[in-house]
Amino acid sequence: MGMKALFCGVGEAFDEDLSNTSILVEVEEHGDVRKLLLDCGFTAAPAFWRFSADPLDLDAIWISHLHGDHFLGLPQLLIRFSEHGRFKPLQIGGGSGTSGSVKKAMELAYPGKWDRLGFDIEFIEAVAEESFHLAGVQALAIPVEHSVPGLGIKLHAQDMSLFYSGDGCLKKRFWPMLEGCDVAVCEAFSLEESVPGHSSVSRVLSMARSAEIRLTALVHMQREERRRHKDSLQKYLEESQAEAFLPEPGDWVKL
Ligand SMILES: [Zn+2]
Repeated sequence: MGMKALFCGVGEAFDEDLSNTSILVEVEEHGDVRKLLLDCGFTAAPAFWRFSADPLDLDAIWISHLHGDHFLGLPQLLIRFSEHGRFKPLQIGGGSGTSGSVKKAMELAYPGKWDRLGFDIEFIEAVAEESFHLAGVQALAIPVEHSVPGLGIKLHAQDMSLFYSGDGCLKKRFWPMLEGCDVAVCEAFSLEESVPGHSSVSRVLSMARSAEIRLTALVHMQREERRRHKDSLQKYLEESQAEAFLPEPGDWVKL
């Protein structure tokens, strides 16, 4: 099977219609399937439950950075796992400080619950430009420019690779790290305008062409910008000479 990515949420932080960006990745290697959720913001947990066929099977969660729309859905997700009697250990990966912030969020949301979840949580704090494993899947952390420290993640399995940026844009010197990537899921906050700490559709497409990325999914588009350009975006993408699309919740891609 290889890899499959399901878009549970594709929205920015405060969109009233779209859940926060959150992607469920399934990796099959040697008959063994691993499931990883990339980001889990305020509104992501219900979307994950809606779209995942077997939510209790989740092996790991990746937190790209410590903004609420990327990690504050964790208390909800973890408590519901507990309610459903989960006992399988869970890994939570992210950059430096992920462990402390997740525990603090849990303590604020549901005091005293952390030690009574009923399953073990193992934290993996990744270092920029270094390889690591998440749920047994080979991964590489790539730094992004955002208002807080952020790490993109590139997953590899069976000669296939998927990149997820989280928020922000990659400096040009990191573009070669995505060379030949099969799927890149990238934040594209605006169409062309340069917004500090964010990327744009045009910048992501330049990167996609330069790194010869096979397919690019544009997520986390600012809500008004998305409405404004939704109808004309297809034509814009066709003219860009990069294979790219704007996923809707529930869409999936197979690598
Ligand atoms: Zn952010």
